[in-house]
Amino acid sequence: MNKREFLKRSTILGAGALIAPSIASSCMNSAAQPGATASLVALGDDGAFVQPALGYAYDALEPYVDAATMEVHYGKHHAGYTKKFNAALEQADFHSTDIYKLFSTVSTHGSGIRNNGGGYFNHNLYWKFMSPEGGGEPAEGGKLAEAIVADFGSFAQFKELFSATAASHFGSGWGWLLLDADGKLQVTSLPNQDNPLMDISPVRGTPLLNIDVWEHAYYLHYQNMRKSYVEAYWNVIDWKFVELLYMEAIV
Ligand code: MN
Repeated sequence: MNKREFLKRSTILGAGALIAPSIASSCMNSAAQPGATASLVALGDDGAFVQPALGYAYDALEPYVDAATMEVHYGKHHAGYTKKFNAALEQADFHSTDIYKLFSTVSTHGSGIRNNGGGYFNHNLYWKFMSPEGGGEPAEGGKLAEAIVADFGSFAQFKELFSATAASHFGSGWGWLLLDADGKLQVTSLPNQDNPLMDISPVRGTPLLNIDVWEHAYYLHYQNMRKSYVEAYWNVIDWKFVELLYMEAIV
């Protein structure tokens, strides 16, 4: 096989790998799919953490999140965190696959585990929180919609708070919606790759939604206009998935 033929075949195989998960997921009703929480972490046969399949093509979230950003973000940044997380665990000779327990004691581990473990997990969530069929609001009359009204006043007020918190976060980090131990929804932002499951987080709880506000998440398309990226994010949020997580978190 010459180089050109090889590249052609690789491209076809690559496209197949991208299309396959989206076909698989479109055949399933996400509401009937058990274990939204369980789907947030994937393990290889060797016990190493692996990147869950994206579930849609790189260009599926256009024009809100562009294909070039997705390709570099999923294929390079997230892949890098995954590799470094496994390497950090290996180096520490720490072989637990319970990432929740790991985060709840993350202060006892080195920064390699905190930063790369967060980088691995936070992106797993982020890809799940987005969908080509996303946008809109949580189902009217549903428990999540009711909780948002109870804790923020209205969906519009929640949206404003979440957007402002994410847009104004200083430097690299993430915006978060979480369910705290008292069963109350909270919005916060955290630096770097920290998340609300970590014992070092000033606000703790179960993550229900996040948004990556590292520049690599938006700079190719939005340049310095983080606010525009945050506004666009509302068009791709998969509220069905957020609702599944919420329902699993309140039982
Ligand atoms: Mn990122």
